[in-house]
Amino acid sequence: MRIVLLGPPGSGKGTQARRLVDRFGLSLIATGDIFRWNVREGTELGHRAKAYLDAGELVPDDVTIAIVMAAIDKVPDGFILDGFPRTIPQAESLESELAARGRPISSVLAFILDEEEAVKRIAGRRTCANCQAPYNVFFNPPVTEGICDVCGGPLVQRTDESEETVRRRLEVYREQTAPLLKFYSERGFLREIDAVGTEEEVTQRAVAALADLVGKDQSESRI
Ligand SMILES: [Zn+2]
Repeated sequence: MRIVLLGPPGSGKGTQARRLVDRFGLSLIATGDIFRWNVREGTELGHRAKAYLDAGELVPDDVTIAIVMAAIDKVPDGFILDGFPRTIPQAESLESELAARGRPISSVLAFILDEEEAVKRIAGRRTCANCQAPYNVFFNPPVTEGICDVCGGPLVQRTDESEETVRRRLEVYREQTAPLLKFYSERGFLREIDAVGTEEEVTQRAVAALADLVGKDQSESRI
């Protein structure tokens, strides 16, 4: 099965990607990871991407797609894409590249989460500066505000997890990535997954949705 995962920041998409990969023995292609790998290994594509990143510019689609396709070409059939595509033009390029290889996307799971819930999940995160114990001021607060229960150290918030940053990331998702739900829905292989619940509950919903999609296509012999 060749799967694309969609979902806003805070939806737990990355966690679910790892759980589904483990469950079904698929390869995980997480865009952030493969970008970092290419830059670290100094590949030609890594050099090209780094030049843009160092200049504070967005990596253009042709470089991003080349990096993703190089990763896909290295893995056996059965993979999960996490973090790509993020826009309609990227989805169109991916579709034609995969069609040329005879490896089209078979399932798209979209994790659905209310924006205010997403803000609480991310902007509520605090970590002990001393022992790294994780907290959330809304869902898992310390006994004393700002103080670690375990070691008494100060709790800190990452700058890229401020409410302002989270809201900006959600806006980008809403404007650029959410239209992909319609794009894939029209192709008949999208399922929406309620992202509220325990990790296991959400995984169960994803597994059921994949089974449902495979049942629709008898040519797929396995998930
Ligand atoms: Zn601590």
